[in-house]
Amino acid sequence: MKNIKDYDLEDLKEELISYDEKPYRAEQIFKWIYQENITSFDDMTNLSLELRQKLKDNFTLCTYNIIKKQESKKDETKKYLFDVLDGNAIETVLMKYHHGYSICVSSQIGCKMGCKFCASTGIKFVRSLTSGEIVEQILAVERDAKIKISNVVFMGIGEPLDNYDNVVNAIRIINNPKGLNIGARHISVSTSGLVPNIYRLADENIQCTLSISLHATTDEKRSSMMPVNNRYNIEALLTACKDYINKTHRRISFEYALAKEENDNLEDAKRLARLLKGMLCHVNLIPINKIESGIYSKSSNENIIKFRDYLNSKGIVATIRRELGSDIDAACGQLRRKSLSSKEDA
Ligand code: SAH
Repeated sequence: MKNIKDYDLEDLKEELISYDEKPYRAEQIFKWIYQENITSFDDMTNLSLELRQKLKDNFTLCTYNIIKKQESKKDETKKYLFDVLDGNAIETVLMKYHHGYSICVSSQIGCKMGCKFCASTGIKFVRSLTSGEIVEQILAVERDAKIKISNVVFMGIGEPLDNYDNVVNAIRIINNPKGLNIGARHISVSTSGLVPNIYRLADENIQCTLSISLHATTDEKRSSMMPVNNRYNIEALLTACKDYINKTHRRISFEYALAKEENDNLEDAKRLARLLKGMLCHVNLIPINKIESGIYSKSSNENIIKFRDYLNSKGIVATIRRELGSDIDAACGQLRRKSLSSKEDA
């Protein structure tokens, strides 16, 4: 059966036409799914019984069950473990900010990128999520927490640009005024640096924010932390970023996780300022979170502040990311794929 949440509005119209239905029905269905957040086709009361039956015969609503929910005692962060209905489970994080609720969604079950500091990578890659499986994370959290999400970040498990088509389709559903109606500027896609797909994204005509996991200022250091740098080095990455800025006029956000005595000294700050000079960008400094197998440890607060102040003094806007949910392993780099059938990482 097909997951009805895999379709963006235009594709759902086409699909309904092929069932001899009027295309405007797709808009009604979208409203039920994304605005009313119903969990059964029977709830679509303005559709005929016959159409509801047709939908039931052909589609699923892919409604997630919560396997586990953890709530931070330090802040209001919640981490959800969802059953993706095939024996696998993924994590999604809900964060509360003064401007509203932000959700961190996963894009794959596992991750192939192999970044040395990230827990998502320590276990086997299983598969990419479909667009419907991505958007259902938002709907399931909205149902459970009884809130409306206003920001979506693709910063959970997986490399979004390694699941390009499904992620872009999910963004269209999230952004559609008849879908989740979340403005593109409130959607961020974070990548470890898959250069060809940064060029593709620049041409999609979506005004989402691009975040780049940079984390180092020399190829030697970056390759030691992130194997993807052997394929696309810093120069190739920054050239693609400049193209993205030229085409979209959007400011790029560079993420830089500070690890003690690895990438956090003043020389790094100087090189970073030189690399980013003149670019329309913002630097997000993340105190690196230690993971179980991790070889890196967090920079001192003093160092982090020095690093930020140096960048700011060179005209590069840098802020320190507030750490949310660290007591429930919901902070950056702490999400992992879980297997329901085995105990491998539960
Ligand atoms: N694969 C994408 C999406 C993951 S986003 C990417 O790499 O961008 C998660 C962010 O958290 C990335 O910037 C990632 O580099 C960062 N991160 C991973 N592990 C971390 C850790 N241990 N401490 C702090 N940040 C980490």
